[in-house]
Amino acid sequence: MKPTSILCLFLLLFISHTNYAQTTVDDPEIKKMVAEVKSENMEATVRKLVSFGTRHTLSDTKSNTRGIGAAQRWVKSEFDKYALASGGRLTSIIDFFTIKADGRRIATDSQLGNVMATLKGTDPTDDRVLIISGHLDSRASDVMDAKSDAPGANDDASGVAAMMELARIMSQREFPFTLIFVAVVGEEQGLYGAKHLADVAKDGKWNVIAMINNDMIGNSLSSGTLLRDNTKVRVFSETIPFLETEAESKMRKSTNRDNDSPSRQLARYIKTVTNQYVEQLDINLVYRNDRFLRGGDHTPFSQNGFTAIRFCEMNENYDHQHQNVRKENNIQYGDLAEFMDFEYMKKVTCSNLATFSNLAWSPKAPTNVGIEVKDLTNFSTLAWTAPEGKSVYGYNILIRETSSQHWEKAIFVKDTKAEIPYSKDNFFFAVQTVDALGHSSLPVFPIPIR
Ligand SMILES: [Zn+2]
Repeated sequence: MKPTSILCLFLLLFISHTNYAQTTVDDPEIKKMVAEVKSENMEATVRKLVSFGTRHTLSDTKSNTRGIGAAQRWVKSEFDKYALASGGRLTSIIDFFTIKADGRRIATDSQLGNVMATLKGTDPTDDRVLIISGHLDSRASDVMDAKSDAPGANDDASGVAAMMELARIMSQREFPFTLIFVAVVGEEQGLYGAKHLADVAKDGKWNVIAMINNDMIGNSLSSGTLLRDNTKVRVFSETIPFLETEAESKMRKSTNRDNDSPSRQLARYIKTVTNQYVEQLDINLVYRNDRFLRGGDHTPFSQNGFTAIRFCEMNENYDHQHQNVRKENNIQYGDLAEFMDFEYMKKVTCSNLATFSNLAWSPKAPTNVGIEVKDLTNFSTLAWTAPEGKSVYGYNILIRETSSQHWEKAIFVKDTKAEIPYSKDNFFFAVQTVDALGHSSLPVFPIPIR
């Protein structure tokens, strides 16, 4: 071999090694953004929201100091401050809509309003949308009581504060497509605000690639069992998609795709990104759409066919949830800021921010992801189509054993087809796109190519 050839070979090896490393290194900009999350900001937001006395969906809308109306206008005014710093790319509205009396938790026809900020993307050809939410409304012991104090510090000023912190930090950067930050209302009355937005998105054929709901992310002590743990947060994701068709059901059963819904892929993605960017926080994947027999603001999005998950603290405290503020037998009840763990809440917000910005900078996901099944072989061959738009640097083929909760290995390739020495009988696979800074798309589960 001539010396020049040896040099070329060396360079090739060096470059390919460097290239692989690039897919796993941290993006310094995301690290910087994560460092900008401040627990003091979020505590101030929570205390401000508590100061409105009650934010019950059907509470006063006229007063500037008490009730849901004052809270809505304050959140909008904060969005408008961030908008100034964004050079006008962030815009905000209160999206009003009417809910008819439902004979349940809406006594008379009522006007509700989600407070929403939209950060426009820089690429007009990229129609993707990301949504992050918390719910602005709160409740007392009686869900119809719109008058008593309902501080709602954890449920869910915590989620609203996280969403606002992301809006503040992210609106100072540019992203190719649309990001929506929203404080929904009507959660406690029946998920009405989220349902309204999910219907707007469905009717408008929005290309929502992920919806992230934060509901109760600021408490780290369980009532009764007194478990104290600020190192874990739950991410709920649906197992079988609500809108699964008969053909999809058949395919799921034949490929054993019972644990690989798009929302479950998003949950795993959050776990990967959190491990990468957030210290001392584990994502606890819960294999259900929400807590047992319950729902949250991501549920209407799931029901409309979107990929959606919920962040929720590991340990809930029922002394401070859906309780009138009162003292009984020396126990203080009520959802008050003094019972919150703002450092814990900060870590959960960092996890949101790292996930949201990674997705917001990601190339589009691969399409037509398939796995060849015509030959009996101990290798597996996967093939896919490169997405349009932002240039793709390469692809990760993700691998895990069938009994594993999380991806165990990623093989980086540049081509749109790869043969790997792992049998499809023993492993699950998925493929995601990666850009030169390591931002990756949501993984796509392959279907058989016959
Ligand atoms: Zn809630």
